[in-house]
Amino acid sequence: MSYTFPRSTDLFARAQKSVAGGINSGIRKMEAPVPLYFDHGQGSRLWDVDGNEYIDFQTGQGALLYGHAPAGMAEAIGAQAKKGTHWAAQCELEIEVAERLQKMIPGAERVRFNNSATEVVLAAFRLARAHTGRKLILKFEGHYHGWADEGLVGFAPPPDKWGTEDEPTRLHPSQGVIPEVLDQFVVARWNDPEHLRRRVDQYRGQIAAIVFEPVLCNTSCMEPVQGLLQTIRELCDRDGMMMIADETITGFRFGAGCAQTHYGVVPDLTILGKAIGGGVPFAAMVGKEASFAKILSGEVVHAGTLNANPLCLAAAKWCLDQVIELGDAHPHQLIGLGQKMMAGLRTLADEHSIPLRPQGPGLVFHTTLLKPGAAEGPVTSYRDYVQRHDAPRWAHLRRCLLENGVRAIERGLWFLSLAHSENDVDEGLQRASKAFARHAA
Ligand code: PLP
Repeated sequence: MSYTFPRSTDLFARAQKSVAGGINSGIRKMEAPVPLYFDHGQGSRLWDVDGNEYIDFQTGQGALLYGHAPAGMAEAIGAQAKKGTHWAAQCELEIEVAERLQKMIPGAERVRFNNSATEVVLAAFRLARAHTGRKLILKFEGHYHGWADEGLVGFAPPPDKWGTEDEPTRLHPSQGVIPEVLDQFVVARWNDPEHLRRRVDQYRGQIAAIVFEPVLCNTSCMEPVQGLLQTIRELCDRDGMMMIADETITGFRFGAGCAQTHYGVVPDLTILGKAIGGGVPFAAMVGKEASFAKILSGEVVHAGTLNANPLCLAAAKWCLDQVIELGDAHPHQLIGLGQKMMAGLRTLADEHSIPLRPQGPGLVFHTTLLKPGAAEGPVTSYRDYVQRHDAPRWAHLRRCLLENGVRAIERGLWFLSLAHSENDVDEGLQRASKAFARHAA
């Protein structure tokens, strides 16, 4: 089996005459050999317009925690659509979703909704600055917080502009951003509590918030070292900074209480996206009541025509009910399947002499393809990743996987969903074996 993509190729050629660049999100241009056009999905499977079937580990960049097209969600959205698609006003559904979040997440005393996590990040930074009267946000190298001006500082700096280990350069990957945006950030290394303490001390009294992905999923897949999140909590309490957990990826993947419950911390604000809506444009900012004071007083503006849209709320209510119903079983199911997939990929890769190294907690994981001569051992930082990961060879391997019916994310991330089964993992590994043989040939 090796897939071909004539219809996607034709559609992409046609798209470029109307859709700028033929795509609607920059990352999609990385899809080789051509950005694919999809026809339908069901559970763990996805079909493109050429009739190729994929076991999907991309799962809508992690949003499809409940799989493709779950019937209950379609019904919930359909029933709401008959009553109205948009009111730009209140409805009982928003209270029902907010009350669920309060019960699920320890620090979620209050809730506000938006349409994307990118927006919520901006709202959280604004709130933190107003709350503290300070300008700076401390973020970690390699962490991604949406595509807006403020979310991308320090995300993927090229090696020739890294700065020193102690003083990572503040860089933005996009043109069109005013230089003053960079002045609003302090960048620190991930997973180095002592370095973090030094960075905070260096700017003591000027930092409004520390923002982080609890598991760094946007560069390899790195869990926090023991005590790191507790150090962030301690420093925030000591210096009156807000602790902002960006759980866009980890939210609900780790179960009802999200990664913060798994790692035992309560942030001041949490950003939720992706799985909260199961694939509809929905996101939330949740946090302690005190964190929302400036919104309540009207001193901080938070708005949006489509905020708390009833179609999205209907979907979110259905999604959260799945997580509540499954309870603790859900993260265990995802971890079990993910770890089996990771182990299987590693064994197959070894058989084909491919230095592929899966890493992560299982419910999401990353495959690093080591450069020739690169050191063994887990990837520990953004720089370590760039130095050891062979991006061009991974792109070829990923394409071989795709052409054999296994779809992982372009940058090497794999997501399990609640629709994936043991059979999907077994079949995925059989297909991967053929892909590895082709890659190695
Ligand atoms: N934060 C994190 C950790 C993310 O991974 C993403 C998207 O991948 C975002 C924020 C932005 O989410 P969205 O693209 O839904 O605005």
